Amino acid sequence: MAVSGIGPYDPQNIFARILRGELPCKKVYEDAYALAFHDIAPKAPVHVLVIPKGAYVSFADFSAKASEAEIAGFIRAVGMVARDLGLDAPGYRLVSNTGAEGGQEVPHFHVHLFGGRALGSMLP
Ligand code: 5GP
Repeated sequence: MAVSGIGPYDPQNIFARILRGELPCKKVYEDAYALAFHDIAPKAPVHVLVIPKGAYVSFADFSAKASEAEIAGFIRAVGMVARDLGLDAPGYRLVSNTGAEGGQEVPHFHVHLFGGRALGSMLP
């Protein structure tokens, strides 16, 4: 079910539990600002989720409240993950569903990284 992109952070959401090590994930990368792991239901040959370490509900929340260091660290991590997966040359797609109308289901900000095949020019 889609969730609101603003409002209080639920510390029991699935990605918060993954960050705390309470639930497993197939980790791709981790640093002080970000954790990247494979999506449990991949929609492309490469489908990785990159999440910030901080407690932000959505892109709306993250962009408004995160520090410059968190934002820079997170964006650099997304780029590094894509590069390390060999996606720079062929290309890839980043998506962040935000809030109910954006189709967000897990209320911890995350970026989907899709690649590994020609994705076309699909936009809403
Ligand atoms: P959203 O719709 O919130 O942008 O996307 C949430 C994504 O999280 C979906 O692509 C879904 O497959 C993925 N997901 C949901 N639960 C889990 C989980 O427990 N582990 C992993 N690795 N991915 C999950």
